[in-house]
Amino acid sequence: MKTIKGITPFKNKIWLSSPTMHGEELKYMQEAYETNWMSTVGANINEVERITCKTVGVDYAVGLSSGTAALHLAVRLAGERLYGQPKVGHGTLEGKKVFCSDMTFDATVNPVVYEGGEAVFIDSEYETWNMDPETLEKAFESYPDVKLIVLAHLYGTPAKIDKIREIADKYGALIIEDAAESLGATYKGKQTGSFGDYAIISFNGNKIITGSSGGAFLTNDPNDAEKVKKWSTQSREAAAWYQHEELGYNYRMSNVIAGVIRGQYEHLQEHIEQKRTIWDKYRGGLKDLPVSMNPIPDDCEANYWLSCMIIDKNAMAYQVRREKDVSYESEVGKTCPSEILEAIASINAEGRPIWKPMHMQPMYRSNIFIKKDKEDIGADIFDRGLCLPSDNKMTMEQVDTVIGVIRQCFE
Ligand SMILES: *Cc1c(COP(=O)(O)O)cnc(C)c1O
Repeated sequence: MKTIKGITPFKNKIWLSSPTMHGEELKYMQEAYETNWMSTVGANINEVERITCKTVGVDYAVGLSSGTAALHLAVRLAGERLYGQPKVGHGTLEGKKVFCSDMTFDATVNPVVYEGGEAVFIDSEYETWNMDPETLEKAFESYPDVKLIVLAHLYGTPAKIDKIREIADKYGALIIEDAAESLGATYKGKQTGSFGDYAIISFNGNKIITGSSGGAFLTNDPNDAEKVKKWSTQSREAAAWYQHEELGYNYRMSNVIAGVIRGQYEHLQEHIEQKRTIWDKYRGGLKDLPVSMNPIPDDCEANYWLSCMIIDKNAMAYQVRREKDVSYESEVGKTCPSEILEAIASINAEGRPIWKPMHMQPMYRSNIFIKKDKEDIGADIFDRGLCLPSDNKMTMEQVDTVIGVIRQCFE
């Protein structure tokens, strides 16, 4: 690593994206405590579901224990709708291919496997870093029988959802929209999470608002909402005793956690504003370097969850990532994500590599991966890109300090 000169490390660590509490959270948690609704039932859950519907513009939201749980139930619901109810002990997607975002957190994809499906990965595009609609079209040409798409909006930038919807409709496929990272972002004026046949959001600790954990399933269909709520509470039938006709889960949201989320919702817009200011500051400060910020096309409004950058190809220093470690060389006038991440860490701040694409993961390496042409775009963005410290409590001076460190990496 190049030696970083003239910069004092931050006294308190600057995180990638940490929870930011405001006070109301405690009030609603305390209400749960004082009224003894210390359970998976209560006013906070009802309110979180109501506010979620209003924010995203959907008719029904079901509060769940995590975004992953919401994805699992969305996948199960889609599987049953497409292929019918499986025998007990079997998944709904056994032997079925599902088109999935490739460059994303593995929580997007794992639920397909929980249901016995086979994830087929669709490469990303440079314009949004999300699933490339042209590659999706190509995938359908090879596998026209596929009936399900799981689509993530990475880092708060919406995918080209219009085109993806058009293709899905042409082939009669359903879309599950993973809006875990994009709560509050809009595409052509419409909120992410309102486009999919089913959609999910997450309230995990590092998301734009958080309950410490939690998630929600979103739909416009009252029967879907009822079913997911029932499945999430162990599939109890309406009977005087515990009567079960189908498989259930313990996935319901806690009323205490819902209190935190309820308080956080009052600050969603403020968080987005803060994140946008940070992203703008980075963009301005890095303008004259051979890098670009993560793309935000004109037809959408991102939530700016994470500020990311990508190094121009001709400014990349030698870097080789092996399974679990990396080597790189410090070169004059060039750098690489590994060097920048080390330099950022050396001043007590946290950056992170881009999500390592699923087709490069040992557990998914033998799955089918579909690219537009020869180039592996996901692998390239992973190689040259990184996430910058994006905590909404960062001051502009602190962002400037990080920019100064990045600048020195290019010397
Ligand atoms: C965080 C995240 C999830 C999972 O949400 P949890 O609430 O952590 O289970 C799913 N998909 C993406 C893209 C995420 O970033």
